[in-house]
Amino acid sequence: MKVSGRTKVCAVIGDPVEHSLSPCFQNAAFQHLNLDFVYVAFTVNVENLGNAILGVRSLGIYGLNVTMPHKISVIRYLDYLDERADRIKSVNTILNKDGKLIGYTTDGIGVLNALKYNDVDPKGKKVVILGAGGAARSASYALSEVAGELVILNRTIRRARNLAYKVSELAGVRANVRWGGLTMESLRREIHEVDILINATPVGMSPDVNETLVDKRLLHPDMVVFDMIYHPLKTRLVREAEEVGAKTINGLSMLIHQGAASFEIWTGVKAPIEVMMKAAEEEIRRRGGA
Ligand code: NAP
Repeated sequence: MKVSGRTKVCAVIGDPVEHSLSPCFQNAAFQHLNLDFVYVAFTVNVENLGNAILGVRSLGIYGLNVTMPHKISVIRYLDYLDERADRIKSVNTILNKDGKLIGYTTDGIGVLNALKYNDVDPKGKKVVILGAGGAARSASYALSEVAGELVILNRTIRRARNLAYKVSELAGVRANVRWGGLTMESLRREIHEVDILINATPVGMSPDVNETLVDKRLLHPDMVVFDMIYHPLKTRLVREAEEVGAKTINGLSMLIHQGAASFEIWTGVKAPIEVMMKAAEEEIRRRGGA
């Protein structure tokens, strides 16, 4: 990589960010296309967010990814929001356009494009999402626009209900959104006829790789199992879904596709998905998370 006085700087800000895969696959993409960009990571804690954004303006940092815990709080420091970020009230990408900071959200696009990349069309389908945190929120908003039926199941039932209400409010009366607790009984009832099951909880993530929320006996070959976890690349849920003949998608697809959408906002160039995917896979293997 050749860095010069003209190189455009992009970065991820969050806390923590030192294990982020974004520098690895974004730099691989810039290099592959010979773009004069570089991507780094900055740990920014809650108290420093306002100063960090002032720094972005004064240093002329060109693009940002924003991750936990700043996706909502960063909004007040921006000049404009694109329509989707404004609707959802969450920003994970910022473009510094001639000194004006514009906020976007590509998390939902990441979910939809990960499905598309794996030849799964959610249109009119029954989708069950496990979890009601930030990742479930992005998936729910995006899928409510296309899925036939959306069911949000969460350990804390109140959070499932709140998310379902917000999604219904945004998607309008056409949305068929239901919610419930995350129990053996609700899983049995809802997974029986599910088309796409999405795990948006950390259950099964390294180091607790033998954990799963879904009993293997509930899985069937007619469903798609999408686990948002990418460390490890193959969770127990994904492994058992494969064993019963179900189609599976891992979290890396989502991560890469949301990053690819950010890349395209900054560069205006189509992102080299395969290059980004390969770089991230190699990095995960290098860290022992295959
Ligand atoms: P979050 O906001 O903290 O939400 C976590 C969710 O998981 C909550 O709904 C929580 O339920 C539930 N949960 C946690 N532990 C549980 C357990 N032991 N049993 C049942 N439910 C449990 O986290 P997040 O940002 O949404 O992230 C969730 C997962 O998605 C993580 O594994 C993260 O790595 C992954 N993720 C992947 C991508 C990607 O690009 N692939 C992007 C974002 C996140 P309660 O409400 O009851 O606490």
